[in-house]
Amino acid sequence: MENLVKQFSQVKPGDVGIIGDPVEHSLSPVFHNAAFKTWWGAFRDRDELTPVYHRFHVLHDQLAEAVDLAKKHQLRGLNVTIPHKETVIKFVDNLDPAAERLGAVNTLSFQEGKVKGFNTDVDGFRRSLERELEFDPEGKPALILGAGGTGKIIALQLINQGASMVYIWNRDPQRLRKFFDWDSDLVSRIKIVESEDELGSVSREVPLIINATSVGLKEKDLLPSSKIEFNKDHYVFDVIYHRETFFMKSAKQAGAKVIGGLGMLLFQGAKSFEIWTGAPAPLDIMRQALQSKMEGK
Ligand code: NDP
Repeated sequence: MENLVKQFSQVKPGDVGIIGDPVEHSLSPVFHNAAFKTWWGAFRDRDELTPVYHRFHVLHDQLAEAVDLAKKHQLRGLNVTIPHKETVIKFVDNLDPAAERLGAVNTLSFQEGKVKGFNTDVDGFRRSLERELEFDPEGKPALILGAGGTGKIIALQLINQGASMVYIWNRDPQRLRKFFDWDSDLVSRIKIVESEDELGSVSREVPLIINATSVGLKEKDLLPSSKIEFNKDHYVFDVIYHRETFFMKSAKQAGAKVIGGLGMLLFQGAKSFEIWTGAPAPLDIMRQALQSKMEGK
């Protein structure tokens, strides 16, 4: 791995990037650079150089140095990924409400010497649910499988959008405890699914089922739990964006309306782009770049 000073020596003022460990697999440079290249010249003063989106491999004990270097080199902002989404908060001057409630930041912006922290994964999920799955959660119950970082984001967003009850199941029940750090209004709209038998009956009753586990990342993965049942009235969302998962295929076979996680990824990136540039993101260009990459073009 190159040292951080060397990694940051490639940048110019106004650039952006992603910090994480690992970070090589990130698809964000693909769609952000496509957006900057095709869009920047048309809308910005041509004297201002086109921003470039970089990947920075940043270990846990290098986080403070990375944020300092980003400020010193006058970066516009950064995306933050595993394992820094929570620890980066101590370097942030202001947090947006979602980031504060979740205790997780995936976007930084540097303005007038201040570091602002945002969580755009929340917007990514909301926009994808509305525009792609065309599901309005208001007044309806939903089931989330998985209580990791992504499950928590989705639970918060569904409650904010007025879901009547959010059922959450996790393989390891210990992980469900963290939801109870939230205030009583939020907690009163969360119900833990205690057993796999209960999971079967809840999955039959709710209109919306979301896979927020990492099951499906590997090609041979099956369902997060064999007790899940799909039917033709279900709306089904899988956060995995690498392939059509067994979860998605099973739901489709039952006649459900199904989407994967590519839209969520795209929309969270679009929101980061909007925070950094103050302009609407060129979604079609970003989507096309992402799809070409996924199809190996
Ligand atoms: P975490 O590590 O925080 O959580 C992983 C979750 O998966 C936990 O609930 C874990 O359960 C569960 N899990 C793992 N293996 C199994 C298994 N064999 N059976 C049942 N449950 C299992 O990860 P994140 O929440 O950050 O990410 C989850 C997924 O979401 C990732 O695959 C990531 O790629 C995807 N993602 C997609 C985004 C998008 O934009 N589409 C954005 C962010 C993430 P347990 O606690 O029992 O281990």
